[in-house]
Amino acid sequence: MPKLGLGASTRNSGVIHSGLYYAPGSLKAKHCVRGNRLTYEFCAKHNVPHRRTGKLVVASSLEEAHELSALVENGRANGVENLRLIDSAAIRAREPHIAGVQAIDVPSTGIVESEELLKACARLAVDRGAHLLTNARVTRLQVTDVADSAIRVTSAAGEIAARCVINSAGLYADEIAALLGSQMARHRIYPVRGEYCELVRSKQNWINGLVYPLPHPEGVSLGTHFTKTLAGNVWIGPTTRYIDSKNDYERDREPIEYFARLAKLLMPEIEAADLVQAHSGIRAKLVPPSSSRASAPAASSQGGTTQGKYSASTGDFVIERDPNFPHVVQLIGIESPGLTSALSIAEHVRNLVTEILN
Ligand SMILES: Cc1cc2nc3c(=O)[nH]c(=O)nc-3n(C[C@H](O)[C@H](O)[C@H](O)COP(=O)(O)OP(=O)(O)OC[C@H]3O[C@@H](n4cnc5c(N)ncnc54)[C@H](O)[C@@H]3O)c2cc1C
Repeated sequence: MPKLGLGASTRNSGVIHSGLYYAPGSLKAKHCVRGNRLTYEFCAKHNVPHRRTGKLVVASSLEEAHELSALVENGRANGVENLRLIDSAAIRAREPHIAGVQAIDVPSTGIVESEELLKACARLAVDRGAHLLTNARVTRLQVTDVADSAIRVTSAAGEIAARCVINSAGLYADEIAALLGSQMARHRIYPVRGEYCELVRSKQNWINGLVYPLPHPEGVSLGTHFTKTLAGNVWIGPTTRYIDSKNDYERDREPIEYFARLAKLLMPEIEAADLVQAHSGIRAKLVPPSSSRASAPAASSQGGTTQGKYSASTGDFVIERDPNFPHVVQLIGIESPGLTSALSIAEHVRNLVTEILN
């Protein structure tokens, strides 16, 4: 890539997630909850534009409202603080254009300008002696000295002799693992596109903060939601569609009417004419399209609650030293909440690297 941040890290919702949804004990729960706090601290310290907006997870029927308490319990088990249920009048008071029976108020959720966050991290890395290379697609990884675990990294920008390799190649992390001949390549990444629309300027005041539906229990995302950005735009999305290519951001985009239909569940007065097409991103999913709950990684101990069903269909991050090549740290399936989790994951990876180099 010609510059940093052309992957998922700048093609997302920019939400600093709370950790509400993920299975207790999962890496997603652990890194999201810690990452939430670290992200606020980092943004304040390094002048990254952000805001603790809070968010509402809205039930649009009585049936859905029954699921909210299970989600609150799940969040509390993960250490998410100050969660509370609010009624339809309180929803209206906060978001006058949103219709809901009941909602979870999640005060620790917020938004960040993801591109600025990425730039701040890059700046700090360079200040501390990192050498950043762009246009450096890695095409070969070769262990040159088994005893010393030296690895030759061949890239479009030349060769590097490495004592430690961190595979954090996003959508392509499984392919990097395969270059090494690692058994970790069994964690296949399925690209899942998420598209966004935007409210036209004259309707941007219809949303004040972040508004999410209840995630569909068997769905693979948090659901199509409303995000008010720091610039005041209102994004609606992302959608969820398994695609064949890891690089296909634009082909066969969903029609505006599709977004209007989804958005109407929470905002009944919205019409297709209120929307314009916006950006899209591609998730690095480890869960195949046809997966049942039983085949998904995090399904294990949860019962029939919203928490269990949701976690089951989203799976977990894979972050570990490669069992075949212990000088390699593999990060595979870093999908949402990867932006929120980044600083917590970085702490953990730093510890693994210290282990490797000592
Ligand atoms: C639609 C969408 C919405 C999301 N919303 C949120 C959200 O609101 N909150 C949240 O917390 N998370 C969100 N996420 C998830 C978050 O964006 C990702 O988890 C995170 O950005 C992943 O970061 P990454 O560094 O692993 O991947 P990327 O940002 O994709 O970076 C991977 C890098 O690896 C490089 N690379 C790949 N292959 C090679 C190679 N062969 N050689 C050299 N370099 C290579 C790429 O060029 C790229 O720079 C969302 C994701 C999507 C797609």
